[in-house]
Amino acid sequence: MKQSQMLIPTLKENPADAEIKSHQLLVRAGYIRQIASGIYSFLPIGRRVLNKVENIVREEMEKIGAHEMIMPALEPSELWKETGRWTTFGSELMRINDRHQREFALGATHEEVITSIVRNEVKSYKQLPLTVFQIQNKFRDEARPRFGLLRGREFLMKDAYSFNDSYESLDETYQKMFDAYSNVFRRCGLNFRAVIADSGAMGGKDTHEFMVLSEVGEDVIAYSDTSRYAANIEMAPVVTTYEKSSEKPKTLEKVATPDQKTMKDVADFLGHELHKGLKSILFNVDDRFVMVVTRGDHEVNDVKLKNLYDADMVELATEEDSRRLIGAGFGSLGPVHVPEEVEVVADFAVEALVNVSCGANEEGFHFTNATPERDFKVNQYADLRFIQEGDPSPDGEGKIVFARGIEVGHVFKLGEFYSERMNATFLNDQGKAKTMIMGSYGIGVSRTLAAIVEQFHDERGITWPANIAPFQVHLLSLNPKKAEQKELADQLYETLQQAGIDVLYDDRKERAGVKFADSDLFGVPLRITVGKRASEGIVEVKERASGDQKDMEQNDIVEYVR
Ligand code: ATP
Ligand code: MG
Ligand code: MG
Ligand code: MG
Repeated sequence: MKQSQMLIPTLKENPADAEIKSHQLLVRAGYIRQIASGIYSFLPIGRRVLNKVENIVREEMEKIGAHEMIMPALEPSELWKETGRWTTFGSELMRINDRHQREFALGATHEEVITSIVRNEVKSYKQLPLTVFQIQNKFRDEARPRFGLLRGREFLMKDAYSFNDSYESLDETYQKMFDAYSNVFRRCGLNFRAVIADSGAMGGKDTHEFMVLSEVGEDVIAYSDTSRYAANIEMAPVVTTYEKSSEKPKTLEKVATPDQKTMKDVADFLGHELHKGLKSILFNVDDRFVMVVTRGDHEVNDVKLKNLYDADMVELATEEDSRRLIGAGFGSLGPVHVPEEVEVVADFAVEALVNVSCGANEEGFHFTNATPERDFKVNQYADLRFIQEGDPSPDGEGKIVFARGIEVGHVFKLGEFYSERMNATFLNDQGKAKTMIMGSYGIGVSRTLAAIVEQFHDERGITWPANIAPFQVHLLSLNPKKAEQKELADQLYETLQQAGIDVLYDDRKERAGVKFADSDLFGVPLRITVGKRASEGIVEVKERASGDQKDMEQNDIVEYVR
């Protein structure tokens, strides 16, 4: 393709609102443009890279016998009411009315739609198992759309849904999906981990998230440095030091036992909901300080809460701060002034303060469930602490490492949640009606694209892995005004195209410096420059990622590129 004919608007400066590399580079290199907060257009080369990711996903789905379909973005509220999610999904679900005031959701996910189709069309165990998928824009009114494609309000997702006649059969489908996901992210060149995840409100059994390791990830994962063990931090085991407990607490209602294994288990035990996506808890330590375990930096009642996962696992507020926090929770159980952006954090933090007291010694943190007293006393020694870096991995192999992760995929055993509520049944081999067993499997296609850029860039621009790059070759004619340069470049362009090689041809009347800078920014893996030695039939070949370059005979080019 000729660059002179393409819409590839490049920028010298980073857009003001773009905080992370993938957002900056995809905008600067002319791949995407923002239309509104969390809403993007993909310009022609953006469409090309998105196609690459999409096609990898499509191929891996088809390999395991899943077939593609298209479902509407407009979903009637009646379906969502059948499962109760019209209410429970909350404000992330975008809703609109038609001219007759009928309510619709803009598809945030499609479990209800697919279940309504399958319950009508699939009647017998002979038609199961069945897996379908879609690659479509989904809509979620995210509280904080940010980081460009990483958290959009309209974004491209591959979602697959499976229907099985037994849990054993679901296990098989799940494993196939798990392997297909591993293939997808491997083919995208990504450094990722499949982590044990929290099944949350839907109460399904197994669920794994696929996390791309990256500093800008919003999740924290704990993984073994030598084995495949990896868990979202909220599902990582709490380390028990129970036998070392010394004093018996005075007003102890419950003591966590070694069975309470994960952070979520502990929260359940203490009677708290660990808010989805939230890792924040306040502990009173030594009756003097409040220790805050939180995600991100926040401010509650003028007290700054520091991101503990970034810090050294322990961050103490001052004594005065701790009184202010305790006061907030204890005086009247609220109301507490909470700035909007820390809403969820504070909910849980205050609740935790009211109901939980903790102690700490050099071994770690100690939880009990205490009745509030005004003068806050520490009831000690339930002897649990969160897993830390350097702890032995729970599978016995290697040591735990913490890292940040970008959730690019999620596989989930749904069980009967949807099929039961929506009455999706089939007749088994004895002619008996049974509820279908379901699974759902999502990949954030546009998010994956951004995650790739997070892992593949340098100070000059993007360094696409070959599988994802918008073109195989970027052909530059440095000075098209010179006849011999233009001629050779035109000729090479023809030859490469005839050889079936995807080539972007910079035939623009621009300065050489501009062409080089743009080329580095786009990140096409191989650059061929037609310049001064054109008359000898010699061009320069340069690898974008390594920077290796050499001069080459024009006749050797096709062979070399292949
Ligand atoms: P997150 O925890 O980041 O909000 P999620 O758990 O809500 O994601 P799922 O419902 O599991 O997302 O959706 C499947 C996949 O869709 C996710 O694994 C992620 O890759 C992608 N995804 C979800 N929300 C967004 C978004 N706002 N922008 C881009 N991709 C998204
Ligand atoms: Mg979400
Ligand atoms: Mg998630
Ligand atoms: Mg998820």
